[in-house]
Amino acid sequence: MVQQHKSSKTLYEQVVPIHDICIVISLPSLSFWEQQWLKNTDILIVGSGIVGLQSAWHLKQQWPHREVWVIDRAPLSLGASTRNAGFACFGSMGEILDDIQRTDEQTAYALYEKRFRGLQQLLADFGETAIGYEKTGGYEIFKPGAEQEFQHIANHIDNVNADLKTVAGENPFQLKSTAKLGMQVLENGVFTPVEGMIQSHLLYKKVQDAALSAGVRVLGGLTAAQPEKLDSGKWRVKTAEGYVFDAQTLVVCTNGYAAQLLPELQVQAARGQVLVTSAIPPLKWRGLMHADKGYIYFRSLGTRILIGGGRNLDFEGETTTELNTTDAIVQYLLNFLREVVVPGENFEITHQWAGTMGMHQNRTPIVQCLDQGLFACVRMGGMGVALSAVVSRELAALVKEQS
Ligand SMILES: Cc1cc2nc3c(=O)[nH]c(=O)nc-3n(C[C@H](O)[C@H](O)[C@H](O)COP(=O)(O)OP(=O)(O)OC[C@H]3O[C@@H](n4cnc5c(N)ncnc54)[C@H](O)[C@@H]3O)c2cc1C
Repeated sequence: MVQQHKSSKTLYEQVVPIHDICIVISLPSLSFWEQQWLKNTDILIVGSGIVGLQSAWHLKQQWPHREVWVIDRAPLSLGASTRNAGFACFGSMGEILDDIQRTDEQTAYALYEKRFRGLQQLLADFGETAIGYEKTGGYEIFKPGAEQEFQHIANHIDNVNADLKTVAGENPFQLKSTAKLGMQVLENGVFTPVEGMIQSHLLYKKVQDAALSAGVRVLGGLTAAQPEKLDSGKWRVKTAEGYVFDAQTLVVCTNGYAAQLLPELQVQAARGQVLVTSAIPPLKWRGLMHADKGYIYFRSLGTRILIGGGRNLDFEGETTTELNTTDAIVQYLLNFLREVVVPGENFEITHQWAGTMGMHQNRTPIVQCLDQGLFACVRMGGMGVALSAVVSRELAALVKEQS
């Protein structure tokens, strides 16, 4: 006799926490076919940011016959890759000196080199025009009152250049007059000729196109829970929406959210807030700007300005995955624009948003095998654009080595 099963109508009833509210959703149970498909996943990547998608692309190129899935909680990714400032940069003098103080020269320079190589690789992979790359160079500027900070940086330029010239092919940092910028800043700043800006949505589209055309399957709208190891050695990932993937290889690319899935990882979520102004014609400069050891960054966006940062106002409060902007930081960035960047100009804020970075004290990314078949490629800090092409290749090579 055929055994009677209970109705499966609410088999996938889930309690989904969305902010402070818990919503109970009922989904139809997965069909036999759907279950067969998902339970025979070769490689599952959680997180469809630029790192997850490039990792998937390299893994699929490595093994064209393996099924490679990328899932993300949001249709269009919802972390940093589509919410950043579009700096294709390596870090200012102020940031490098800060890094040396936190770690040591070798670690700080190695990270610089990785970003430099990463950017060259990114441009080679996707093309300058296609990702809207403009090699404008960038300035580090200093507010009146920051003379000591400027002097400290000026004193170290020759040493840092001597170490990084072989990496960059030229002196990456030069003292330069800021007179033509029209800003309320010290008369000299530090110019970096070797960096530029991209348009983040164009990079994201190119990365996504590469993954899709290689045959990677990308599904948005699936929020993964913590993975479980099965007796078979596979990794089971259940999603809040009732999907169950059993994967031979699982790669976590959730960056600032990594500790939610793998609590053993040392990754701190860090919110980054961004504003875009209305047009301010005629803007006297084009390119990237860094201030306050990299805690404030701004760039031209046509005749608009995009500005972000201010996390150092409230490190504790900004250690969050919440994606709202806050009055205090918006006001701080607005004051910086009015007092320092475009004094006397009329403008309004037309766009504002927040994204999530994955941080750690020593600012280095994690590309690691955590257990058999379980990998992480996370913690890209504020430099994931330049790093993504290198770390995703490292990840694919590591998976191959461990397979
Ligand atoms: C405001 C801001 C400005 C920045 N500016 C720059 C810049 O100018 N230049 C630069 O180089 N870098 C910048 N960065 C950093 C850069 O954007 C990141 O380092 C890079 O995008 C990281 O890519 P990723 O793919 O590792 O992570 P993300 O793009 O964050 O992708 C992680 C993905 O994981 C998904 N996810 C999380 N949890 C789950 C789950 N449980 N289930 C399923 N999916 C999940 C998220 O939805 C997200 O799509 C900035 C970041 C921010 C926030």
